[in-house]
Amino acid sequence: MKAMRLHFQAQAEMQPLLLEEIPMPEPGPGQALVRVLACGVCHTDLHTLEGDIHPPTLPLTPGHQVVGVVDAVNEARGRSENAHSQSANIGVGDRVGVPWLHSACGTCEYCQRGQENLCPQARFTGFHVDGGYAEYMLADLRYLLPIPPEISDEQAAPLLCAGIIGYRSLRLADVHPGERVGLVGFGASAHLTIQVARGWGCDVYVFTRSAEHRQHAAELGAAWTGGIEDTPPRLLDSAVIFAPSGKLVPLVLERLRPGGTLAINAIHMSDIPEMPYRLIYGERTLRSVANATYQDGVEFLRIASKLSIQSSVTIYPLDEANQALLDLKHSKINGEAVLVD
Ligand SMILES: [Zn+2]
Ligand SMILES: [Zn+2]
Repeated sequence: MKAMRLHFQAQAEMQPLLLEEIPMPEPGPGQALVRVLACGVCHTDLHTLEGDIHPPTLPLTPGHQVVGVVDAVNEARGRSENAHSQSANIGVGDRVGVPWLHSACGTCEYCQRGQENLCPQARFTGFHVDGGYAEYMLADLRYLLPIPPEISDEQAAPLLCAGIIGYRSLRLADVHPGERVGLVGFGASAHLTIQVARGWGCDVYVFTRSAEHRQHAAELGAAWTGGIEDTPPRLLDSAVIFAPSGKLVPLVLERLRPGGTLAINAIHMSDIPEMPYRLIYGERTLRSVANATYQDGVEFLRIASKLSIQSSVTIYPLDEANQALLDLKHSKINGEAVLVD
């Protein structure tokens, strides 16, 4: 089968992914073999490519927003360990989503608290295990997400990371219906997150350098758009930073009301500069968002279906994954790049 493989981390300009013919993987106990129909290209893939984060082993097939069809299952372990009712009946021929969270231990204190995203044993798709920049991949049966039938393969792919983590970010930013929410950076995740916030009746303030992204935000119902140097007419109740730039943190705190929350949706960020205490005084909260739980995925896909959330996608053939990542790096994509074979 074909796969785009990373052997050495390098800048996207070096086109580090190589198209290779590799043996078809065989599902082990508790695993499904998934035939990939579409795979989203996430900023995390770019961080993996360029060495901002380090997968434990190379070579590796990236990709963790996978829509596919279950081709085979290995039930040697049985389904008794299946912790999620939504994945309990998934079988051969079903269309599924494979998200970033490949698996978690299920027994540690974080898993017990429903914070499996923080499990020290958590393994991530396209990072610890091969992902969806390929014709086929293996997935843990317990973590497969059913995809609502009315959402197409290409539309569903961006929902599986950009969408799910954006939804978790709104929750962790303590967003309530009707409030003023700031979104900082307007790429794949924010363009889906704004639709959830609008669905909740929030006024959304979008900060982005790109004129095209401002236009996109306005089309999706932003109440205000501008650059980070611009001051919106009112203080924000909450905000989410999507851009991996630490210097944004004090600038966004400056625009937050007392008691407001700023959540950072980034797996990697440049250093946050030293800042005056007054920016966080007044009971402002600053927190990060790390990965997402299976339950986040179930809830978000339900919301995406109910609100008819539309993903803006640019389609690339699988063997042009390097170009897709380069275009992502240079903010040339409105919404998200999706690979199809
Ligand atoms: Zn991702
Ligand atoms: Zn655990």
